[in-house]
Amino acid sequence: MSKKNIYNNRKWRKLRLYHISNNPLCAYCYPKIVEATQVDHCIPFDLEDKESIDRLFLEEDNLISTCSTCHGLITFIQQGLDFKNMSFEEAKRFKISKMVKKVGIDGFY
Ligand SMILES: [Zn+2]
Repeated sequence: MSKKNIYNNRKWRKLRLYHISNNPLCAYCYPKIVEATQVDHCIPFDLEDKESIDRLFLEEDNLISTCSTCHGLITFIQQGLDFKNMSFEEAKRFKISKMVKKVGIDGFY
């Protein structure tokens, strides 16, 4: 399945909208107030692994609201990270801590 196809379905669009309307700010920019326009998965799923898609893709607890700048950056940063045995909440905190370290509170903007 391609990345494009997986996002092209009603369930995802509905969940994404629901999550952003409940969490309208970018979690990575916080406490800076930046509007979230995208949704990131705390624990990334593997398109080659159906089990990981089933477990992670449409799981609301695995979502994190983000602006497009942070989404691009965290997608790059997380390639070297290991999320094994992490809960969604742990993965979320872990990624936020990585962003703060790399970016600094004021550094990037
Ligand atoms: Zn952001």
